[in-house]
Amino acid sequence: MKEHSTLSLYIHIPFCKQKCSYCDFVSYEGKEELIGAYVDKLIYEIHCLDLASIGSGRIADLKTIYFGGGTPSLLSISNFQSLISNLKSLIPNFSSLEISIEANPGTVNKEYLKVLHNLGINRISLGAQSFNDKHLKTLGRIHDSKQIYKAVEDAKSAGFKNISIDFIFAIPNQTLNEWKHDLEQAVKLEPKHISTYNLQIEEGTPLFKTLSFKGRRDYEEDLDAEMYEYTMDFLKSHGYKHYEISNFAELGFESKHNLNYWQNGNYLGIGAGAHSHIDGKRWNNTESIEEYLLLDCKGGSRTTPTGKDSSETLFMGLRLIDGIPTQKFKGYEEKMSKLIKANLLEHEGNNIKLSKRGLMLANLVFEEFV
Ligand code: SF4
Repeated sequence: MKEHSTLSLYIHIPFCKQKCSYCDFVSYEGKEELIGAYVDKLIYEIHCLDLASIGSGRIADLKTIYFGGGTPSLLSISNFQSLISNLKSLIPNFSSLEISIEANPGTVNKEYLKVLHNLGINRISLGAQSFNDKHLKTLGRIHDSKQIYKAVEDAKSAGFKNISIDFIFAIPNQTLNEWKHDLEQAVKLEPKHISTYNLQIEEGTPLFKTLSFKGRRDYEEDLDAEMYEYTMDFLKSHGYKHYEISNFAELGFESKHNLNYWQNGNYLGIGAGAHSHIDGKRWNNTESIEEYLLLDCKGGSRTTPTGKDSSETLFMGLRLIDGIPTQKFKGYEEKMSKLIKANLLEHEGNNIKLSKRGLMLANLVFEEFV
């Protein structure tokens, strides 16, 4: 009998109240009037996929569902009720899944979170980004620091046990002390999971345009590394295991959904811009909401395919702190040796992983496999 790997379901909600200055995700401001039609189309796509029969009975492999964005917490309670009742009708083991939602601290309250929790959503990832209001402004976030404390408190009293908080460091003009303060506040809230992302200022974003970016990077790269090194030491000393370049968790609270990506498992993506990967085949949906609304079951708004599966396994897997088995580098031995010589990769047991230097310069390593 063919052994199936874990299957995950990702549902993309591409709406935001306001576009953040650094954002290059598939998300749009000022399109909230399309939310109702979009949710109907998500339900339509869920049924199109015919979840119950994918890969002849693969539904039993489904372990996680993730509502990501954009800002999923812009959906109304009745939007979530419709989505979830449709998912439940197709997924017999719904109540045993890890079901996550990304939420913006500026868009939630206790009553709303309570309903989501009662519907079966059992993990919440709050996009806090910083406790410093000046830096939140630079990032173009709609919330302030007070709303972060309130959102965490509301999530806890709504019944969420599995709370994750996202942060960004290396924000323009952010000092090491300010970042230390963010981490101290974060652990005081006792989340089970903390993500810390080094701000990447991508071309085309408003932040890129307002900064003389190149000069800043040359000047502050050492500070970025210092912040990252401090993060690793600090979170480790507070009981968080560093399990992926940007992710830390109490034991047993690693994100199962994201682990499945990094382990190159199978996943289905629903919604505008969502990516899928099943048995080595990859495809993605159109990024335009308007085009997505025209989707038909024959795959009218789909584009195919993307990426090369073997190299994807390598650069996704190398994000994990434990690395990946050496035999996965078959066909890439030359690159592997070169990166080991450069002290970017190292052996540990039967695995190859990023060295400490490699963690700081991970993009150089990944570029080799793109
Ligand atoms: S909330 Fe997230 S997805 Fe929306 S604009 Fe900000 S960074 Fe982008």
